[in-house]
Amino acid sequence: DYLPASRVTRIKSSASVAAAARVRELKAEGIPIIDLTVGEPDFDTPDHIKEAAVAAIRDGETKYTSVTGTPELQTAILRKIESHTGHHYERNQLTIGGGAKQVLYVALMASLNEGDEVIVPAPYWVSYPDMVLANDGTPVIVPCGEDTGFKLTPDALEKAITPNTKWLILNAPSNPTGAVYTREELQALGAVLEEHPNVFILTDEIYDEIHFGDGRVTSLVTAAPALKDRILLVNGVSKAYAMTGWRLGYGVGPAPLIAAMNKLQSQTSSCPSSISQAAAVAALNGDQSFVRDSVEVYRKRRDAAVEGLNAINGLTVAPAEGAFYAYVNCSGVIGKTAPDGKVIENDQDFTLYLLDAARVAVIQGSAYGLGPYFRISFATSLETINAGVDSISDAVNALN
Ligand code: PLP
Repeated sequence: DYLPASRVTRIKSSASVAAAARVRELKAEGIPIIDLTVGEPDFDTPDHIKEAAVAAIRDGETKYTSVTGTPELQTAILRKIESHTGHHYERNQLTIGGGAKQVLYVALMASLNEGDEVIVPAPYWVSYPDMVLANDGTPVIVPCGEDTGFKLTPDALEKAITPNTKWLILNAPSNPTGAVYTREELQALGAVLEEHPNVFILTDEIYDEIHFGDGRVTSLVTAAPALKDRILLVNGVSKAYAMTGWRLGYGVGPAPLIAAMNKLQSQTSSCPSSISQAAAVAALNGDQSFVRDSVEVYRKRRDAAVEGLNAINGLTVAPAEGAFYAYVNCSGVIGKTAPDGKVIENDQDFTLYLLDAARVAVIQGSAYGLGPYFRISFATSLETINAGVDSISDAVNALN
């Protein structure tokens, strides 16, 4: 009989993957669903990137590469990192994998022993706590409320650190809140971390290109260079270039950690697809107008979503500073009664009600470790967003 390993039984499947599956099921039953769960750009991968992949296939770039990728990819990644952070990294400080997700997983696999703690500010990307658990670590969830813009404060960080802390995971722009840390906020967190040399910092900057404020998102490496030898910076091409299916992510950090990660990669994936690597080179080195144009489209959708949702009695949301999500406070509908007599006790009840009554799919805040909220994605058309907001409005108005 198949008996799952304990690392499998102690984790759950990704809530976003599960939500996407549920939407697909309902659609297959012929039920029209307004899907606001999607965690990937709705745009197609730009043509020049696809062409580079086709050329790679034609030219026979179809073999294993080095574990850390082709020299062209390494150069392209290191240049992008240097231009974003102002810091130079060597090739032995670089790792690549099948998406940022896999890089994050391997980082934890390469570093955690039983009893090691990983500080995860909430709301968090759904995968962090389960990745920690799967790798024998202990997630230490630190709630970061709306009063601090869903951001970790130096005080809360200080309180969460113990002698067993191995990692702090920071993610900005954040999935699910869109929060971005200012340089000063990162410096203040950096000052705490300087006092605790046992803590490594994993900074997930996968949404760094999707920013609605002025200028670039500040990387932790830029704000707190004294910590550079303890920072693993993770990024990838999925979100910025609409390349989620190509599965190409990367990380830069201290050489000993990177060596351990690459050793594991050599025994697991060998290397990401050579074709995706060629495509990623074209993405990173090529014309960046797709990134700029898509950010402007996301901005319009964000503004429409925020305006529409705030007009609904019982819901409030602040505009995201980056990424393509809105994290909507639904405390005003908790305790109300649906037309069928069911009381909305929490955000999970509310999202089920929205699916039932409004045919709108969103993800409950409890999946991200902080309720009562729900996440909508605006990586979908303006019509879908407007239709979703209208349906949510009708469903909320039907509550008593
Ligand atoms: N990190 C965050 C915060 C994300 O939201 C996602 C994707 O949803 C990832 C990492 C994974 O990205 P990739 O497609 O590169 O694995």
